[in-house]
Amino acid sequence: MMEYDFGPKHPLKPIRLQRTEALLRAMVPDLVCIDPGLAEPEEIAFVHSQDYIEVTQSLSTGEQVPAEVLFSYGFGSVDTPPFRGMFGAALAYCGGAVRAAEDLLVGEELAFNIGGGLHHAQRSRASGFCVFNDPAISLMILKQRFKKLMYVDIDLHHGDGVQAIFEDDPDVLTLSIHESGKTLYPGTGFVEETGAGGAIVNIPLEARTTGDTWIWAFREVFARAVNWFQPEAIVLQMGCDPHTNDPLGHLAVTVQEWLAAVTLVKKTGLPILACGGGGYAIENVPRMWAAAVMELSGIEIPERAPDSIPIEWGVSAIFDADPGDRWIGRQEAERVVEYWKEKLV
Ligand SMILES: [Zn+2]
Repeated sequence: MMEYDFGPKHPLKPIRLQRTEALLRAMVPDLVCIDPGLAEPEEIAFVHSQDYIEVTQSLSTGEQVPAEVLFSYGFGSVDTPPFRGMFGAALAYCGGAVRAAEDLLVGEELAFNIGGGLHHAQRSRASGFCVFNDPAISLMILKQRFKKLMYVDIDLHHGDGVQAIFEDDPDVLTLSIHESGKTLYPGTGFVEETGAGGAIVNIPLEARTTGDTWIWAFREVFARAVNWFQPEAIVLQMGCDPHTNDPLGHLAVTVQEWLAAVTLVKKTGLPILACGGGGYAIENVPRMWAAAVMELSGIEIPERAPDSIPIEWGVSAIFDADPGDRWIGRQEAERVVEYWKEKLV
């Protein structure tokens, strides 16, 4: 998973995983952290087309392909350029998706794939730093046991890949709260996007929306969606880029406001597979994911990281200072909530 790396100038940095693991090991002495091994190409094919899998494999060995092929499979951009070893690195985070899903199949209530959450990958196209769509692979495997599944995406960006892969499947509800596609990649995720059986719920919020508005809108819509859909298990994508310091977006959510969404998902009491996702401020990601793992596991989160964690990582204070009431973006959020109040009955 550490080899999933688009280069030193790319915002997606594998060091996020290393520091998250180090912080978790320091805070949770009996943490069970396993190497899941690689996913099998047949497991990738649960979600992705054979031709796309083959192109990914060829590019990974450094093979040259015509520019039009590169572009048609989504590898022609600076966001998601092909790199040597890409195929194996992508199989690694998908291995986490498979193993975590298999744990839920045999009755575990909770499993994590922190190296995953690559929600933008489409069936036959790489997109937005994502080669294979591991949350979708987890959902496909979970269908062996659970009839109705809910995908909950609290990343800054719309979970467009997962939505597209399940848009015709009435047994998988995808719910995503994100900065509006009017101002941010991938430019989708509006309330009007509906799937077969109405199993798509989007909560787009304006740029500059603050965390008090964000968690209010999430609470209102998530509770109604759970009640309306009655899922049997949840896949939670925990992108931490809604944070106010994140360099890629324009939301202003604190650690504790973001974590409150994780708490609401936990309170459903359903089996949960939680994966990582976006998060580009390196001083945020380890503390937010460590806090989320502890919250979902029912472990009390300390105010401060242990002294063994280097001060220069910037994660010593787990939570942010309380910013007080801001309520920016509330009007637009109220419109979205009203929309879903009418639909989810
Ligand atoms: Zn993101």
